[in-house]
Amino acid sequence: MNQRVLSERARRVIPGGVNSGQRNVPGLGDLVIAQASGARFRDRDGREYVDYHAAFGPPLLGHNDPDVSAAVAEAGRTVDLCGVGVTEDEVELAEALTELVPSVEQVLLTSTGSEATFHALRVARAATGRRLVVKFQGCYHGWHDAVSLNVISAPDRVGGKDPISAGILPEVLDATLVLPFNSADAVRQAFAEHGADIAAVIVEPVPHNVGCLLPEQEFLRTLREECTRAGSVLVFDEVITGFRHHLGGWQAISGITPDLTTLGKAIANGYPVGALGGRADLMDLFSSRPGGPAFFAGTYNGHPAVVAAALATLRKLRSEPVHEHVFRLGERIRTGLAEVFSSLGVASLVTGYGSVFVEYFMDGPARTYDDLLRNDASMFIGYRRRLLDHGIFELPLNLKRSHVSYAHTDADVDHLLEAAALAAGAQL
Ligand code: PLP
Repeated sequence: MNQRVLSERARRVIPGGVNSGQRNVPGLGDLVIAQASGARFRDRDGREYVDYHAAFGPPLLGHNDPDVSAAVAEAGRTVDLCGVGVTEDEVELAEALTELVPSVEQVLLTSTGSEATFHALRVARAATGRRLVVKFQGCYHGWHDAVSLNVISAPDRVGGKDPISAGILPEVLDATLVLPFNSADAVRQAFAEHGADIAAVIVEPVPHNVGCLLPEQEFLRTLREECTRAGSVLVFDEVITGFRHHLGGWQAISGITPDLTTLGKAIANGYPVGALGGRADLMDLFSSRPGGPAFFAGTYNGHPAVVAAALATLRKLRSEPVHEHVFRLGERIRTGLAEVFSSLGVASLVTGYGSVFVEYFMDGPARTYDDLLRNDASMFIGYRRRLLDHGIFELPLNLKRSHVSYAHTDADVDHLLEAAALAAGAQL
């Protein structure tokens, strides 16, 4: 059965034909994924793409990494979900996370990043008895109500409340303050006005949900200082940055330690995982002893297959030069793309960090979300749609980042740079 027929079947029984609003991408036509391995996936009609989308980030080692797949299969032969007690693997993973991530003294596993950020805010409110949460324009922390606002906002919605969904109670939106990223002044001012009511500040230390805004140290330091002074809980949402940029997350790179950290995506190379860790006195509020004041649960938390995937991922990240490889290819891509666009006279800003890259079509630097409003969205999307004709998949949605994995090769990078010249040239 070909893609068109399968997509029609999908649309009849799955709203929009896909299982996430984020997968509904205009211009892709009917896309049915048939096979994925290493740096590539193939669709049902047999077209193969070099994949830089990488499912929004998890497969740092590449799709279907053989060591991760073997560990999952072995877990399946040994143990299944029992929903009581703990496995040795869960203990081993928790110990590893506490060793690696500076803020993490104790850690709980979830199945998604959204559950991790949800529980971070719940425990921050439980600990402080306060109401307000602070987030930043351009940051995404999952689908739950408290954070479902002001991610990719139209220019006229920046500065106000911009929910990403209908159905959120106005009082929930009222309880979330939205500030500009990288503005230490805005943070100081918010704390001067509302400090005694702020339960938590949640931030992607590198806002990768709008491509890449690199954080200024003064900004992160100010978050730390103001939260400490006001007794608010600082949450680093490292769902993207964790393991991908450093085994200890951005906090290990910046030296700024939050109170709580959320992880997901790359820590299990594509298996459904999230984690919430942090200061033991906060995490202990989730204690499952009767009377533990904050409730935490999840039927699939710590599923043996997922934990085996995470441990196998970690073993490979520790024993092979994964970061060295993906950082080198990432740098080659950023430098190479900048040269390609400049030689064509196309205004561009190619940025990113390590294995992450994004090509904005604009003049000047990007410090804040407002700067990204200068990006030429139709060029951004048009360029990526043309890359598809050359067998390269970067998600054709405005401001989305791309990722290199351990499975990508120098030859893949050569191919990307050649295709970039053709795709950008055809836009002129
Ligand atoms: N936090 C960040 C920074 C994310 O990028 C995402 C997902 O893209 C989430 C949280 C939510 O994770 P999940 O989609 O696993 O619920």
